[in-house]
Amino acid sequence: MCEWPRNWPELIRGIGCEMCRAGRPDADRYGIRIYEGKYSDAYLQRADVQRGYTLVIWRGRHVTEPTELDDAEAAGYWAEVLAVARALITMYQPLKMNYETLGNSLPHLHTHLLPRYADDPRPGQPFPLSAQLPEARISEDRLLAEAAELRFLLR
Ligand SMILES: [Zn+2]
Repeated sequence: MCEWPRNWPELIRGIGCEMCRAGRPDADRYGIRIYEGKYSDAYLQRADVQRGYTLVIWRGRHVTEPTELDDAEAAGYWAEVLAVARALITMYQPLKMNYETLGNSLPHLHTHLLPRYADDPRPGQPFPLSAQLPEARISEDRLLAEAAELRFLLR
């Protein structure tokens, strides 16, 4: 049986938060930045789980729930999430876009953008995204090329 992390009360307050500690890097071990907004950064993910899989991360103070944002922050955050989603739609032409704001393993506000395709692993259902992402990585050449194109679309 799974359990919440032992330090969950600290994590939701931002103590030991990996996303706060990271700052706003151009790249990290999970992805490469394709968008730097006022409220968020977006990272095209290295893990080979789904073409165009991107994480949008709230920047600023530690926030666990979007309900902690004031109205201007909330409008700004979601507008940036949607801008990134539009670029993904333009580039990857999915059948459907999914917007997952979960935070069950890392409780710092972020949104998974998952394009869904005809050759999808689970059509008609939530994407089977595990906290333990597969070891498989998309090639560095492909990652850089797709990131450059997405940055162009988001300029
Ligand atoms: Zn944080």
